[in-house]
Amino acid sequence: MQLFEAQATVGRKFLVAGHGGFNLSNAEELSRFASRYGAESSRFAQLLGHFSPLDLRAWAADLGIETFVGTSGRIFPVAAHKPADLLRAWLRRLQTLGVEIHTRHRWLGFAGPTGLRLRDENPGPDAGREFVLEPAATVLALGGASWAKTGSDGAWAPLLQALGVPVTPFAPSNCGAEVNWSDFFIQKIGRTPLKNIALRVNHGPEVRGEIMLTEYGVEGTPVYTLTPQLRAALASDGPAVLHLNLKPDLTAEALRQKLSQPRGKASFSDLLKKTLSLSPAVPTLLRESYSEAATLAPAALAELLRAVPLTVAGLRPLDEAISTAGGIAFAALDEHLMLRQQPGIFVAGEMLDWEAPTGGYLLQGCFSTGAWAARGMLDFIK
Ligand SMILES: Cc1cc2nc3c(=O)[nH]c(=O)nc-3n(C[C@H](O)[C@H](O)[C@H](O)COP(=O)(O)OP(=O)(O)OC[C@H]3O[C@@H](n4cnc5c(N)ncnc54)[C@H](O)[C@@H]3O)c2cc1C
Repeated sequence: MQLFEAQATVGRKFLVAGHGGFNLSNAEELSRFASRYGAESSRFAQLLGHFSPLDLRAWAADLGIETFVGTSGRIFPVAAHKPADLLRAWLRRLQTLGVEIHTRHRWLGFAGPTGLRLRDENPGPDAGREFVLEPAATVLALGGASWAKTGSDGAWAPLLQALGVPVTPFAPSNCGAEVNWSDFFIQKIGRTPLKNIALRVNHGPEVRGEIMLTEYGVEGTPVYTLTPQLRAALASDGPAVLHLNLKPDLTAEALRQKLSQPRGKASFSDLLKKTLSLSPAVPTLLRESYSEAATLAPAALAELLRAVPLTVAGLRPLDEAISTAGGIAFAALDEHLMLRQQPGIFVAGEMLDWEAPTGGYLLQGCFSTGAWAARGMLDFIK
């Protein structure tokens, strides 16, 4: 068995994922887990049934990497293990199984029905040598199109489209949202976290968590989770408005009562800090949304605090996104994730047209599609 990787080392994005907490999967109950894949949830229910989060934990444990479930349900390797430890153990296992790894080898496309065109990009006498391989079967796992410096540049898309394989256009997923802040706001606030908030798009469901106000807009898990809804709202030409609830544990009435207490000589900032423990950035944020915020009556101020409107001008560029929406349409594949047009060619991971929020759903989705494609490939070879 042979593995060809265009970069000088394998698993670059896997290691990048490791920098941000290395959330391998999630301990969520399986039907809820599958629902995270949106339109593809029933497909993922099947894939997760074949290779589940428990299977992923057992696989890691078998490689000597114990995992634990964090308070949020996210699954991480125990602190003693760095992402590179898991990757090293994985590569050692592949070596034991007889897998030959060829780095700096780029797949250039197909040669006939099952042949692969490859280029050796290693420096030396063979540099640039192109050759054709005739494997019994192949799994393509070339990634999405974000963080191109890790190797996943999406350059495979035209190669497959040329054969008539439908590829849904790439779009950023799990990325920040742009808000046209005033210069004053950017200078005064810079990067500031807002904890324990809830966020929704237009009239959609709320997502709780922590966000970061940035010079370009907002980022953080709740924003990332809402990228599909933001993308849809932006595409429909309608307004894409994030409504920020700064006190999601208090009703409008409870807020109103707190804000109605005699204020004395307290400034607007002091009032918000003393009565609601809100961060010093909040008064500026409220004024950015409504310049007369400081003069609002308690009931109106309570309403604003529960739904600060942030008009989203766009999503951050694809290359900055944590993951990619779009990719090879499932209609192009049979039930074993094999290309209908190229029997013997299977596809796995972010190349496929699915998206899911952060929280371990991305790597688990890649492992589950990978395990399913591998099983299909073994059956095909038999
Ligand atoms: C900042 C960041 C943080 C993340 N954190 C998490 C997290 O905590 N939890 C989580 O679940 N997910 C996380 N992810 C997402 C996760 O890393 C990806 O979903 C996953 O790595 C995708 O795996 P893949 O195998 O489909 O593609 P990739 O990991 O992108 O691998 C594809 C490989 O194919 C190679 N390749 C591409 N084209 C060719 C070619 N023509 N020939 C040969 N080789 C080629 C590339 O060089 C690359 O090595 C994070 C991602 C980012 C960017």
